[in-house]
Amino acid sequence: MASKMLIIGNGPATAEAIEAIRKFNTDASITVLNKEPWPAYSPCPLALYGWNESPEYQEARSEWSENHPDERVPQMLGIPREGLFWKGGMAFYERHNVDLRLSTPAKSIDTSRKVVIAENGEEFEWDKLLIAAGATTFWVPIPGLAEARDKGLAHAFKTIEDADSVIAQLRDPDRASARALVMGSGPIGIEASETLRGWDVDVTMVELVDTVLPVMTDQDSSDILKEHMETHGGMRVITSQGAKEVVFNDDGSLKGVEVGDLGLIECDLIINSAGQRPNTWLCDGTDIEVAERGGILVDRNMRTSNPDVFSAGDVAQFYDVVGLQRMIPLWPNAVVGGRIAGFNMAGKPVVNKGGIDANAVNVFELPIAAGGSPKAEHDETLIGQNADTWVKMYLKDSIVVGFTAIGTVREEELNLDAYNLPEEQMAEIRNAFARGQNREGAGLEGNGIFYTLLRRKQVLSDEMKDLIRLGDFRSRSFRSLFAIDQHDFVRLPERIGVRGQEVYPR
Ligand SMILES: Cc1cc2nc3c(=O)[nH]c(=O)nc-3n(C[C@H](O)[C@H](O)[C@H](O)COP(=O)(O)OP(=O)(O)OC[C@H]3O[C@@H](n4cnc5c(N)ncnc54)[C@H](O)[C@@H]3O)c2cc1C
Repeated sequence: MASKMLIIGNGPATAEAIEAIRKFNTDASITVLNKEPWPAYSPCPLALYGWNESPEYQEARSEWSENHPDERVPQMLGIPREGLFWKGGMAFYERHNVDLRLSTPAKSIDTSRKVVIAENGEEFEWDKLLIAAGATTFWVPIPGLAEARDKGLAHAFKTIEDADSVIAQLRDPDRASARALVMGSGPIGIEASETLRGWDVDVTMVELVDTVLPVMTDQDSSDILKEHMETHGGMRVITSQGAKEVVFNDDGSLKGVEVGDLGLIECDLIINSAGQRPNTWLCDGTDIEVAERGGILVDRNMRTSNPDVFSAGDVAQFYDVVGLQRMIPLWPNAVVGGRIAGFNMAGKPVVNKGGIDANAVNVFELPIAAGGSPKAEHDETLIGQNADTWVKMYLKDSIVVGFTAIGTVREEELNLDAYNLPEEQMAEIRNAFARGQNREGAGLEGNGIFYTLLRRKQVLSDEMKDLIRLGDFRSRSFRSLFAIDQHDFVRLPERIGVRGQEVYPR
């Protein structure tokens, strides 16, 4: 049995791998090299962390505590740093007898000597290695952006350090921060915008392509979202225009950003959320195969081309549910991939049935979920709508290849009584819905049914299509026609890491 396990990175894939290894191997040494100074944390609720220190939210918290003296302050009113540590902080490593090396980034891997060399020159031996180093923010090479970053006027929003850097500028009397420009409209740009709005900053978001949240939307859903971000979020959203150059005043302060053909948009602060790159450079010069412009290639055991090296999470390129080897940089894939890598490192040959290509984001309290791709090749679209939910399904040969759903699902619409379930299960479903209806979840529990249709590759009959068009997705006739069982309602949030760590399995 392998006696030295080494892991590079300390995100969810690592935490899960540690638990999986320890299930079968209590003797092996486990060493984790982490670039950052923190135990495992979830970046998903970074906006809530960003709000935590804002004067408006501090006031809201004290008011809430005065009115509810015996209750815990809800996460929607901000999360302190330790609230992000989803595995409970340092105790997790002690419990699993792990040697966690904080602030010790790996610099290179030597597979012939089976060592990893850290930036500080220290060498770490391994019998089995897991590369779970995630991805790094991509700094778009436009003139002036790197200078703005170095001056503390342009920030990423991927890590605790990034969020702290934004908060530091917001608090600094010597740096203006009343107006922000956010580059990119993906989940990270949206999280950052929410933090900034929580501090009452004027926000302009600039997106290069013609849809916001482009991986999850098409033009219709993007239009709904964009309007919501402007009216409800109070921000300005510009699509089909790219940031071209960062411009400074004579005194070195930020003047603004030249954007597409719109000219200068004045701002005091920039968020760069235009993309990220997997940290595959760690494999340079090794026999670990990396896809061109992709991630570290792994098989269904999360094993790389080197039989003693595994990879999982945002840095890896793994099989999805339909058997394509792709990168899907989402929390549930990191969790499942890490766990499977851990089992295999411990000598238990467990197989990954496939990554989930579905995501859920809460945009200024409007939940949006998407599965498959709204931009996948399709020959038919169905739009269904009821009072709370709008859904668009994209079909090819009557099979769902993607969906986008916007809105919430109410518990009373579930008609749980119809199922005659044991009380324990009813409570489980009610809990999932309760989470979904406040700011801690994404209100997307019901949308598990759409993902179920996608995953099943079910051929939709005309009758099924009519029910979807009628927006009748939660009626009894819909459920019986599609043979949806009650667990499909709760499956999506269990597997998709929507914001708020109570939603994540601990
Ligand atoms: C703001 C934000 C919101 C998100 N919201 C959602 C969401 O709602 N739903 C969802 O499904 N996903 C979401 N994600 C994505 C999700 O967080 C990631 O998919 C997940 O964290 C990836 O996990 P990972 O284990 O690959 O590692 P990561 O979480 O990426 O962590 C990588 C780790 O590796 C370390 N590292 C990097 N380089 C080195 C090195 N050279 N040596 C040592 N250590 C190194 C880093 O410090 C870090 O600890 C969000 C991400 C962000 C940033």
